Amino acid sequence: MSNIQAVENQKIQQDLLNVIRPSRRQRDYQQLALYKDVNPLDWEDWHWQLKHRIRTKEELAQIIKLTPEEEKGIDKAKGRLSIAITPYWATLIDPDDPNCPIRRQAVPVASESAVSPHEMTDPCAEDRDSPAPHLVHRYPDRVLLLATEHCAMYCRHCTRRRLVGEHEHQDADSVSRFDAAIEYIKSNRKVRDVLISGGDPLIMEDEEIESIVSRIRAISHVEFLRIGTRVPVTLPQRITEKLTNMLKKYSPIWMSIHFNHPKEIAKRCKIACDMLSDSGIPLGSQTVLLKGLNDRPYIMKKLMQELLQIRVRPYYIYQCDPVRGTQHFRTPVAVGINIVEKLRGHTSGYAVPTYVIDGPGGGGKIPVGPNYILSQAKGKYVLRNYKGKIYTYLE
Ligand SMILES: *Cc1c(COP(=O)(O)O)cnc(C)c1O
Ligand code: SF4
Repeated sequence: MSNIQAVENQKIQQDLLNVIRPSRRQRDYQQLALYKDVNPLDWEDWHWQLKHRIRTKEELAQIIKLTPEEEKGIDKAKGRLSIAITPYWATLIDPDDPNCPIRRQAVPVASESAVSPHEMTDPCAEDRDSPAPHLVHRYPDRVLLLATEHCAMYCRHCTRRRLVGEHEHQDADSVSRFDAAIEYIKSNRKVRDVLISGGDPLIMEDEEIESIVSRIRAISHVEFLRIGTRVPVTLPQRITEKLTNMLKKYSPIWMSIHFNHPKEIAKRCKIACDMLSDSGIPLGSQTVLLKGLNDRPYIMKKLMQELLQIRVRPYYIYQCDPVRGTQHFRTPVAVGINIVEKLRGHTSGYAVPTYVIDGPGGGGKIPVGPNYILSQAKGKYVLRNYKGKIYTYLE
């Protein structure tokens, strides 16, 4: 073993022990001065969590020791993507480590206000492919419904930052705003799959979610219904029995949950995922590749393996879209390809998601990954396996 490799291995060991050990992921909220007197019933109440989100520099300074970079970031975030951190998410933050993956996803830094040449406001051109308000129709048989602009926590790397946040002009809270979108789905028999996303649809009240889900379920050609959410990770208290019982009525419903780092899989999150799985909702994950946060193969491997432990099937790893102000999060594409290389064959196939780049300008998700076909000629494929050994397959 080379010296460099030995040092690297040692570092990996250290990281796995210190950063990633499940028992160390979450602090008891009573340990945080700000929350020490909170009633446990309030803590478990998702409305309480939402109402008490951290929105200002002053509040944040009571949880973590802000760096000058972060202070600048917070000042500059005004009028851009809102800051909102649930008290629950705050218990996952390492107050002493500015590189804490939980912290970096929630606390803006100064580089967020820098705009790089390739960056766009709407990199996936969703607004262009929108046949009705709140609807994106890009692929032949499925549509994306943007049900709300709000989320429990605002991720600093958000692709839809043009839409999401706490705006002064809130949506009129009436479900009639989806009338045109529902009519469009009704009149397009090719649409057999509806993805309800946002923002985070699970931030809406049960009744409003039910009204949308039931209207879509009533359309006979819609076979597949799924919800994209981050709530089990950022606000697991939201997953209540009342919610899961309601969703059960519209089964089958699938769910894609946004997970970026093993530290997010804390005890409370597992409970939320268990409740969803137990009520018959198959769970998948979506992960954004983020520089310095989950761009090392062993961290991704740990994340994917732990997702399987909580019955979440890894679905996609996204290259971080060229959205304005996310340069500091973006890695070279080779980093993502190398991660897949280190997963495929080296661990359970179920733990290997598809790495995709959303084609800028509206190309949709394009899979990219290691190449296993070395050459192909008349009836003969020369292949390599995950160890680099070469095999010939004759047709
Ligand atoms: C991601 C996405 C979908 C769903 O794509 P799948 O690959 O089926 O998960 C549908 N519509 C839009 C616009 C999307 O971005
Ligand atoms: S939960 Fe999703 S939509 Fe909301 S801020 Fe995070 S990435 Fe954006």
